[in-house]
Amino acid sequence: MNSAPSAIAVRSVSKSFGRGDAMVRVLSDVSVEIGVREFFTLLGPSGCGKTTLLRLIAGFEELDSGDILIDGVRVDHLPPFRRPVNTVFQSYALFPHLTVAQNVAFALELQDLPRAEVRRRAGEALEMVRMGALAARKPAELSGGQQQRVALARALAPRPKVLLLDEPLSALDLKLRKEMQIELKQLQAEAGITFVFVTHDQEEALTLSDRIAVMQGGRILQLGTPREIYERPAHRFVADFIGEINLLEGQVSGHGKVRLDCGAEISAGAGQAAGARVTVAIRPERARLVRGGVLQAEVTHVAYLGTATIMQLRLADGGPFLLRAAADDLPAIGGRVQVDLPSDALQVFAA
Ligand code: ATP
Repeated sequence: MNSAPSAIAVRSVSKSFGRGDAMVRVLSDVSVEIGVREFFTLLGPSGCGKTTLLRLIAGFEELDSGDILIDGVRVDHLPPFRRPVNTVFQSYALFPHLTVAQNVAFALELQDLPRAEVRRRAGEALEMVRMGALAARKPAELSGGQQQRVALARALAPRPKVLLLDEPLSALDLKLRKEMQIELKQLQAEAGITFVFVTHDQEEALTLSDRIAVMQGGRILQLGTPREIYERPAHRFVADFIGEINLLEGQVSGHGKVRLDCGAEISAGAGQAAGARVTVAIRPERARLVRGGVLQAEVTHVAYLGTATIMQLRLADGGPFLLRAAADDLPAIGGRVQVDLPSDALQVFAA
């Protein structure tokens, strides 16, 4: 471990809402360290507790147990405004009667800075999000993406050490969302601020993050770089949640072999007891169309994407199988194909 304090340390944090029979445990013994200047993402399905964890860091909720440190200092007893963090919410919550510049300056006026300094910093924050030219407009005169940028400028202007972002792009349409993703990443690198980003969108998480914590049911299931999470998911849930994957059910037949329910026997499952039920996972781009391949399948659908071909296959037991091949691999619908499953591309999860 290096000796510099992490930007944020969450240690054994638990949180429940409600009492007695109506009590719901939302976070169970969650621990995570987030590095200085890291773009860190909390990713998981609705209700997994990611927003609650963010609100605990911000100070909008109180912990049941555990502690939270920011920059090496315990903050769990501090109110939100005494913590060196700022939050950007899903709804931009701009003041409609104030101009763009006034909205951004508002956050600075709370800090008791001289007026000229407030103006300078607000201008600087607006330049950073490329909204300097529209400083005199009211929020109603801006597009969704522009409003989101103003909300970001407002959060950046007080120069927080940490910015907490709760699904900040989810109200934008897809095209704008993609543009803002790139801008957000650049902004984070430029401003040198630690970002803690909440999303349920796995593609967004893979695109933006230095590291991702995948959450389910109030726990962190896996913590790693986008590549680690995609290529080496530690749980069946993570494999299924991130990207596309084929999950084939089967039974360990011994000697490092698995008999799949579709009838094929493959080399996998070393270390599992004979007879154990397992799930074998393989990404669509890792499976290969090969004559003599171990899986027998029928082609049910072919989509030509220009850069690749996506094939939907049906296995002998009727189960679906997705395969991504080169663009010029275009088998006929209804045709029979054989699929090879390279053993280094397989992951086996105990059922
Ligand atoms: P989403 O993506 O839908 O926002 P999430 O992963 O951010 O989901 P949380 O908002 O952290 O999830 O909520 C986790 C669970 O805690 C949910 O079941 C939610 O209903 C519950 N919860 C959150 N806040 C409260 C509260 N103030 N009182 C009672 N239950 C709450």
